[in-house]
Amino acid sequence: MVNSEGIGTLKLECPQSHPVGKILKEAPHQAVQYDPGAQVGPRRFWPDEEDQPEFKTSYRFCDKPVAGATTLLQTKLSELINDAAETVSTTTLAYV
Ligand SMILES: [Zn+2]
Repeated sequence: MVNSEGIGTLKLECPQSHPVGKILKEAPHQAVQYDPGAQVGPRRFWPDEEDQPEFKTSYRFCDKPVAGATTLLQTKLSELINDAAETVSTTTLAYV
């Protein structure tokens, strides 16, 4: 399968492999968005001011929030976007 340039979805998981949310870019001209999941809330622009320098979020499975360095997540997403073979990858966030 061929990647359309500029598109990628970085799935976020907690240390127990629960789905946390997704950081994604759906089209080359579109801004990066954070998708917390349809049952949780709407998508929003990412990273926001509050997401610096660390992206921290709560999710519905574990009883504690998870976090990851925003620059590291941005790097992983841009690597994915530049990778012609992959459009989706998963990364694990740490408990706060
Ligand atoms: Zn969890």
